[in-house]
Amino acid sequence: MAHKAAPAYDKLVFELSSPGRQGYALPANDVPGAADGVPAKYRRTIPAALPEVSEFDVVRHYSRLSRMNYGVDTHFYPLGSCTMKYNPKLNEDMARLPGFIALHPLAPDAASQGALTLMYELGRMLSEIAGMDAVSLQPAAGAQGELAGVLMIRAYHASRGEKRTKVLIPDSAHGTNPASTALAGYEVIEVKSTRDGEVEIDDLARHLDETVAAFMITVPNTLGNFEPRIIEITNLCHSKGVQVYMDGANLNAILGIARPGDLGFDVCHFNLHKTFTTPHGGGGPGAGPVGIKAHLEPFLPTPVVVKNGEVYALDWKRPKSIGKLQAFWGNFGMLVRAYTYIRTMGPDGLRAVSDNAVLNANYVMKRLEQDYDLAAPGPCMHECVVSARRQKKHGVTAMDIAKRLLDLGFYAPSTYFPLIVEEALMIEPTETESKQTLDAFCDAMIQIAREAERAPDLVHEAPVTTPVRRLDQTKAAREPDLKWTG
Ligand SMILES: *Cc1c(COP(=O)(O)O)cnc(C)c1O
Repeated sequence: MAHKAAPAYDKLVFELSSPGRQGYALPANDVPGAADGVPAKYRRTIPAALPEVSEFDVVRHYSRLSRMNYGVDTHFYPLGSCTMKYNPKLNEDMARLPGFIALHPLAPDAASQGALTLMYELGRMLSEIAGMDAVSLQPAAGAQGELAGVLMIRAYHASRGEKRTKVLIPDSAHGTNPASTALAGYEVIEVKSTRDGEVEIDDLARHLDETVAAFMITVPNTLGNFEPRIIEITNLCHSKGVQVYMDGANLNAILGIARPGDLGFDVCHFNLHKTFTTPHGGGGPGAGPVGIKAHLEPFLPTPVVVKNGEVYALDWKRPKSIGKLQAFWGNFGMLVRAYTYIRTMGPDGLRAVSDNAVLNANYVMKRLEQDYDLAAPGPCMHECVVSARRQKKHGVTAMDIAKRLLDLGFYAPSTYFPLIVEEALMIEPTETESKQTLDAFCDAMIQIAREAERAPDLVHEAPVTTPVRRLDQTKAAREPDLKWTG
């Protein structure tokens, strides 16, 4: 495929190549007899097609690319359901402590006491926060926490000789919920929501029987509202022998206020890269620990960190375990960051996180209610969902608004999620943004609502200030062009 000439700031490193230029030169091999070390049949006959560039070319190239990106460290990032809050730099310092970074993942327990202590304590702190009895730190993402949780539920029912084949999930759920449930071998059954995004209890009750293994639900729900009848719901499920799973991606709304375990949940995952400030996005490593009540403890993934007297160890001998999910101990660096965050905040600090996250979201919702339709009347929890259905009458969609925001210096909210809201824009400001930033964002949203009426073409044109304009998103997903072919 021919590569189109790119603007100067957008050059591929291959296009910077100049024959003979080098970034690094290795000294000549002076080991006697080693010069021909690699047998001829394994050696290249044609040099590798690598760019020939200097070290300085490489540094400038990647620094330039990094500045074309959006991130929490450069822009307000109100991506609903993702909790894109500030990542304290202290976390980075702790994750880079020499004792942690130099620790070999296969080091024996006796030489890893510091790391094991941290994991043990983090598990205890997360258990306390969520009202659970034990936590596995292994899963690398919320989605994998879901898979681990559902597999533990499956093992639990099997251990009791019960064969249940279905998992119930509300129609407002995040896509990972049905995906991980199906991966665990269950049939997914959709439960209806009310207009406010609450579970339709009659519809739930209709589906609950001895073929159902679990009900999986996000609290607060994906419309940013707390499920008011949650205790009634968990009781109803338990009365039919159904386990209840809480998708904890929205935990930022209820830290220190409500605990999933106290609400009756048997399982709950945490997204450390959302609630607990480990970096998020760009495909970097995440961590999705999963918490459980005591009856599920035998099924925890291996290894489990245990404390014998004053000595910490990895327990591998767990015959009922669902098995191992990750290489070594999971994404250990993320565990250090989350541990640091929880210790620096303390219980009162974590409670203040949620108070301020909820306050900020309600502030944004109030400021936007004149110009956008609200998905639910509110007050909301840590995020609010507005609909662009009014703007759509002028031909301006949620996607257009999202693109225009990029021109005005803001990352876009989540769009078209949850699916049950027409032209949804899901805004999560988080507690770490100032009133000035929130006001600037609301001003931009209001400006776009006015433009939608008076100058819809301007909104359709957006973005015009970004390195690339509108991409064909379907084509980009279906036919990704990731290879430079000259
Ligand atoms: C982010 C999210 C997930 C999935 O978490 P990952 O860590 O991205 O795998 C699941 N449910 C909800 C509601 C989410 O917002």
